[in-house]
Amino acid sequence: MSTPLLELRNVTKVYGGGFLRRGPVTVALQDFNLTLYEQPAKIITIAGESGSGKTTLANLILGFIKPTAGHILYRGQDIHRMNRHQRLQYRREVQAVFQDPYEVYNPFYRVKHIFDMAIRNFQLARSREESRALIEEALNVVGLRAEEVLEKYPHQLSGGQRQRMMVARAFLLKPRLIVADEPVSMVDASLRAMILDIMMRLRDEHQISFLYITHDLSTAYQIGDEIYILYQGTVAECGDTVTVIEHPKHPYVQLLINAIPVPDPDVRWGEDQVITLDDEEMRTSIHSGCRFYPRCRHRMAHCQHTRPPLYRVGENHYVTCFLYEEQPTPAPLAEGADVKD
Ligand code: ADP
Ligand code: MG
Repeated sequence: MSTPLLELRNVTKVYGGGFLRRGPVTVALQDFNLTLYEQPAKIITIAGESGSGKTTLANLILGFIKPTAGHILYRGQDIHRMNRHQRLQYRREVQAVFQDPYEVYNPFYRVKHIFDMAIRNFQLARSREESRALIEEALNVVGLRAEEVLEKYPHQLSGGQRQRMMVARAFLLKPRLIVADEPVSMVDASLRAMILDIMMRLRDEHQISFLYITHDLSTAYQIGDEIYILYQGTVAECGDTVTVIEHPKHPYVQLLINAIPVPDPDVRWGEDQVITLDDEEMRTSIHSGCRFYPRCRHRMAHCQHTRPPLYRVGENHYVTCFLYEEQPTPAPLAEGADVKD
């Protein structure tokens, strides 16, 4: 098989602690594995409540922070050991869209500036006309018109326009992957639908993959090909989105999904939550058992001390829970995943 576009191998990020430093340690992400191929483009949802490690994962993939352990490979190359050419390609092909796009804009420049900068930095155009054509194409993809937005200042745009502009800027660079960290959590329902629709079109028409980060399971259900549900920095369950959401196996995920009053797509995860998140004790140690142990209705003695591996429970469905230890294996192991049967 060809080299994956992106591969995360046992990626762990621990904040705090370290040699000679005392103080609280947070295991923000632990032993995370993911393999994404360039084709077919996919939307991979990373879902989890606040504090579950989603932004840490985004920052790791974008190279903003380094993993404490494990490796992140882009086109087979460790992102922290790239040569100049590889780094340029990676910086161009992996783009980001954040929750609050306002922070990305410089308030003193017209909006046009961020597009001009991107074109200059990556030498995307040889003439003014070519540059203008590229910008117009990118704006059209997100349903904006150049004359409507380019000459404005950031504060003169609506939140939805600013967010779509960020997607357009990312698109301008012809990325292979867009890391979108809660891109729709600050916009209203109709805009949310529009932005999710743009993401699906970019996947289908331009083969751009997304890492779609959200705390909202209902939007994940609408768009995601694959889903990873994080609980306190560890994957509780992952696989095909529809399968995971319709047939959750992990006791935590079952609780979460039962807490969503379907079929109202506007009710967000967290608003009607039965689980509280004050329990951080388990995440201060890499060596503790299942993170969900303190609250699990099905817990067994060894769950407290042994971390469950990822068990395969279906075609593309994995769960980290000892309840599935005896499960017969339906098919061969997933490549690169930390899987045990
Ligand atoms: P999410 O995006 O899912 O809300 P984060 O990745 O931001 O979660 O945070 C995961 C955990 O790591 C949280 O417990 C958070 O407090 C902690 N954390 C995040 N960033 C830092 C940091 N720079 N220093 C120390 N702890 C951090
Ligand atoms: Mg976050």
